[in-house]
Amino acid sequence: MNRFCARQLCLSAYDAIGFDLDHTLAKYNLINQLQLTYDSIIDYLVKVKGYPETMRSDLHTHKDFIAKGLFIDTERGNIIKISHSGKILRASHGTHMLPQDKLTSIYGDKLIWEHFNEARDTVRARCGEGKFAFWDNFFDVPGIIVCAQLIDYHDKQNNGPLDSYKSIIWESVPAALSHNYWFEYFGANKGYFFPGIKSRPEKYYRPCSDRLKQWLKDLKKLNKCVFLTTSSHIDFASLTASSVLGPDWKSYFDIIMSNARKPGFFRDNKPFLSLDGIKECDSVPYTDLKQHGVYSSGNHIDLEKFVTKLTGAETPKIVYFGDSLCSDAYPVKTMTNWDMVLVLEEMEAEGYHPEHEIQEKSYAEEESFVLSEIWGSFFYHPEEDPLHNRHMNTFWGELITKYCDIAIPSVEYIANLPLDHKFPCFVHEEDGNTDGFSPAKPKPLLNN
Ligand SMILES: [Mg+2]
Repeated sequence: MNRFCARQLCLSAYDAIGFDLDHTLAKYNLINQLQLTYDSIIDYLVKVKGYPETMRSDLHTHKDFIAKGLFIDTERGNIIKISHSGKILRASHGTHMLPQDKLTSIYGDKLIWEHFNEARDTVRARCGEGKFAFWDNFFDVPGIIVCAQLIDYHDKQNNGPLDSYKSIIWESVPAALSHNYWFEYFGANKGYFFPGIKSRPEKYYRPCSDRLKQWLKDLKKLNKCVFLTTSSHIDFASLTASSVLGPDWKSYFDIIMSNARKPGFFRDNKPFLSLDGIKECDSVPYTDLKQHGVYSSGNHIDLEKFVTKLTGAETPKIVYFGDSLCSDAYPVKTMTNWDMVLVLEEMEAEGYHPEHEIQEKSYAEEESFVLSEIWGSFFYHPEEDPLHNRHMNTFWGELITKYCDIAIPSVEYIANLPLDHKFPCFVHEEDGNTDGFSPAKPKPLLNN
């Protein structure tokens, strides 16, 4: 019997409902977006760093290697997947998988990764003095295969492994991502990512259903404050939001915050800034925040005061929808009193028990990019489950239990349910607990 009182999440009980934009409200044609991201990294390596054009390959040939949340050990040139207790579950050197004996010779018999505690405690992609990095969202996951290709390339040039790959990695993939997503390049039509998405938005965005748009309107009708908090600058956010919600996208929200630089929005007390077109102007105290206003930067404390002003709730109850464990879930649950709904494509890609299938598999090819036979389930490795309780035992699985209240495959899914629907929550106190998945637990977590 469960020792903990079963909590439930019900949207109608909240005063404010907030959304991340990219990969939460805004769904992308994932294959086209991943390909564009991959090409934009390779373009940077070839055109800026002088690597040969032969580095470029069709992303389809690498789709099984791509998986969210893998770590790169930048000194050894190894890509690793770790468990909730820091054990290395699988690893490769470059694109070549490492056999067990090789793994133990590098990491010791227990295979405990030396940076595990720091990775778990900080949940930040850029720490550990550059000794490791990870990518946990679809805008940067193709970086992992480019890292692997780079390591192969340098090993070949060197006729053997290097002493360290740290500077090679940092000067290439993270540098390429910073270059391509540099905010001024959207307006300037520079870099290798924004020009592609601006020229053919219909190739990359998947419009929201009418049902989802009505659901957002229904939330507002219930006197909820509905807000949007995105790390994108207002120009890119406008393209994204208008492509998925239509030209009247702003009308769905009571307040919009761009350039929120999550997790900074939750951690730093930066002021809200007014916008003149795309230009950031004066700071705005919370007393002057306007309903239907569009701002830059900001912080969650002033936003809460705005919600109080709008709804009359003294201590407003807020729930946030986001897709990133690192920049949405972790800061929300460690720096605010908000509740957290994680939107996780891996749920549907890994599948449910047949009675819970919620749609025909119309995106089968897309799901083949989300799944990985090489790296295994995002949630669970049976060989590391001595209790046989099917609790989540991967690094990211444990974080889902700890830092999310519920997890759903898409906002489209929840928009089809009544606003007073009650969702069972994860039991945060129970390691790897799986109760918070709706509509159902992903297949690897089922007992039969
Ligand atoms: Mg996002």
